[in-house]
Amino acid sequence: REAIHSVFLYHAIKAGMDMGIVNASQLAIYDDLPKELRDHVEDVILNRRDDSTERLLNIADKYRGDGSTAENKEDLTWREWPVEKRIEHALVKGISTYIEEDAEIARAAAVKPIDVIEGALMDGMNVVGDLFGDGKMFLPQVVKSARVMKQAVAYLNPFIEASKAVGAKANGKVLMATVKGDVHDIGKNIVGVVLQCNNFEVVDLGVMVSCDKILEAAKREKVDIIGLSGLITPSLDEMVHVASEMQRQGFTIPLMIGGATTSKAHTAVKIEPKYQNDAVVYVPDASRSVAVATQLISEDMKVDFVAERKDEYERVRARRAGSQGKKRLLTYPMACANAFVTDWANYTPPAPTFLGTRTFEDYPLETLRETIDWTPFFISWGLAGKYPKIFDDETVGEAARNLFDDGQRMLDRLINEKLLKANGIIGFWPAQRSGADDITVMNPDGSAPLEVLHQLRQQAQKPDDKPHMSLADYIAPADSGKTDYIGGFAVTTGLGADELAEKFVAANDDYSAIMVKALADRLAESFAEHLHLRVRKEYWPYASDENLSNEELIKEKYRGIRPAPGYPACPDHTEKETLFRLLNATSETGIILTEHLAMHPAAAVSGFYYSHPESRYFAVGKIGKDQVEDIAARKGMEMKTMERWLSPNLDYDP
Ligand code: SAH
Repeated sequence: REAIHSVFLYHAIKAGMDMGIVNASQLAIYDDLPKELRDHVEDVILNRRDDSTERLLNIADKYRGDGSTAENKEDLTWREWPVEKRIEHALVKGISTYIEEDAEIARAAAVKPIDVIEGALMDGMNVVGDLFGDGKMFLPQVVKSARVMKQAVAYLNPFIEASKAVGAKANGKVLMATVKGDVHDIGKNIVGVVLQCNNFEVVDLGVMVSCDKILEAAKREKVDIIGLSGLITPSLDEMVHVASEMQRQGFTIPLMIGGATTSKAHTAVKIEPKYQNDAVVYVPDASRSVAVATQLISEDMKVDFVAERKDEYERVRARRAGSQGKKRLLTYPMACANAFVTDWANYTPPAPTFLGTRTFEDYPLETLRETIDWTPFFISWGLAGKYPKIFDDETVGEAARNLFDDGQRMLDRLINEKLLKANGIIGFWPAQRSGADDITVMNPDGSAPLEVLHQLRQQAQKPDDKPHMSLADYIAPADSGKTDYIGGFAVTTGLGADELAEKFVAANDDYSAIMVKALADRLAESFAEHLHLRVRKEYWPYASDENLSNEELIKEKYRGIRPAPGYPACPDHTEKETLFRLLNATSETGIILTEHLAMHPAAAVSGFYYSHPESRYFAVGKIGKDQVEDIAARKGMEMKTMERWLSPNLDYDP
């Protein structure tokens, strides 16, 4: 029945689109039809709304033509070209449909099967590499080219093994790993694929890889370069540790550093001084990795390239040394004395509708689709520009449109086939500020403390007399006579993502594997936004009449904030442990905290809810030893351990 239904709808759509005759050879896959078009047509066919005809006519112009997707529309004259040209075209355009057929034709004509790889396929990938180098192709397209290449190689491999030919010699061998305690690997995976496209052999050790494992594998595999990746701040220290160990163990190969929180400054100041035997190079984004790796393994280019980097990092260090001590810190007591002040006497904090926690299991993904913030999706694929304006961008517009279409198709699958599971939990508790920077969280009946949250306060001198902020300032102090509350949440949409991505990788489809993770991340952020909205309207209804567009939600134009431990207003990741205890988040949602307090699955978001009308995000910035001593004592943590967690914020060398 379903099939008949689909075919019926399909014909209706075709009829609606071109009012012409149905051409059976052009039958598209129902799921491949754009969702908007499909929904609007279904509205008409199924008579779902009164204004459905008008609505369909309104969007009809957008789908002028045969209404099918770009790929189906493509003209196939290239199929008549010579096979080498066809292979090149398939690689450049990322079309896998005919690649086995073409690889077979090329193999039959070749002397040895390996010649196809070293010939037509490598030539095609060189064209891809050149276009990429010239800024005419972008990361998503290159990852798609890699998929075509891998599928061709997978097809040819059995023949090559049969003829016992030795494989093509790679440019060089690169070890890639996300460091210990970190689970984020979208960037690392893109780099791995792009390097492979450029004839590097990549040994990918995955995520949460300890230093010992990395160095042991580097020796065993005799790699030419080690590439470290990480997203959360504790990974920065872990990379410093790997660099020190490389020095101690006498490694003499270059080290590449990449990932969202890494930077040229951190690499120059913290990592490079620890590893002097060879080069340490910061790679700002995946699109630069090929150029960097190529120069690092080239006998001709390496010397100059490394010398330039060393100079550059020396200048960064000198600049930093020069500016050190210029941005003076207030003493911690002075900063506390200049706290943000609210007139608690004239303000009554709103009360939540329940206290304790509430779990949301298997939350409907289609609801979360509506509130996705798409701009970071393009960023994760290396395309800069704001959604939806990015589609009109002269340079990346087309790549962005195709990427978005592929993303929508995958999202349809994830939702329809229930391939990901979304779990979340929220909680509210009575809370009061105690001392300058602590928040005591009480049990639901307010009779006894449950946990204490420890906040950090800005200490850098300010040109004006603006307050020195701490999140604690947004909670009513015990002596205000007011009852205040704090909330917490943890959400994930990544349950099932790793397994699904692995299946795609096993099928030589890294493009889809990366796509799954990028979409899971988007859904998780959307889940956080969506639940926050429900909190403001239903569960802690201090903004029940709020009426913001999705764009305004993305800009967080509402009252209240949801600061996340590890982010600038609360950079101490260990507070996540307290949050997870309060929520019982691991048992309730399946989110695990790693030893460096990353959340696993990676597509997860957690934080605290503050309702105060003046609450804003800020950055704690640099803090002094006096504050670190104070918070270490309050947390009952050894000074050394506290300094390690706060290392990006320390204004001194511990
Ligand atoms: N719409 C974006 C939202 C992510 S970034 C997306 O889909 O990716 C915004 C979130 O980061 C905030 O809601 C908050 O949880 C966190 N955040 C941003 N700045 C922060 C700061 N200074 N301190 C603490 N958390 C912050």
